[in-house]
Amino acid sequence: MRLLNAGQAAYVDGWEDYQAVASYDREHWFRVPTRYENGELVIEHQPETNSLYYAYFAPYSYERHLDLLAWAEQHDNCRSVRLGQTLDGRDLDLLVVGNPAVAKAAVWVTARQHPGETMAEWLVEGFLERLFDNDDAQARRLSQQLVFYVVPNMNPDGSVRGIYGPMQPG
Ligand SMILES: [Zn+2]
Repeated sequence: MRLLNAGQAAYVDGWEDYQAVASYDREHWFRVPTRYENGELVIEHQPETNSLYYAYFAPYSYERHLDLLAWAEQHDNCRSVRLGQTLDGRDLDLLVVGNPAVAKAAVWVTARQHPGETMAEWLVEGFLERLFDNDDAQARRLSQQLVFYVVPNMNPDGSVRGIYGPMQPG
């Protein structure tokens, strides 16, 4: 498979050592041999079935985003704050982990300003899992001393619309 206009991508340097991902069930994703040559992205892969998905990075769906918010808020030291409404009418959500009144410092984690960067929201999910792990002494210490302001998806509209870069008004 050749992506003929890969050379016109927003960030061409990103193709260096890049490997596309593929999935048969949209659950498990694996890397496939990919190379960038002469302005084209070449994915060389022999599918085992007629139906297969390829992606830039493992997708992080809007449904999973909503699941993440609901799951996070079930933890005692986490609450969600609605920052506002997007142009398409979706909520822009912030998760606050820890107690701002006693925290020694605040840490901000924001993901997916570029909505196509799904790996950033996977990172947030793993980050929160660790932070919520009561058996993890380091995580316990951090969440007692600091307050974390986490925006798992800065650009839900772009994520749903499948836009890579920032949303243009109008
Ligand atoms: Zn970015």
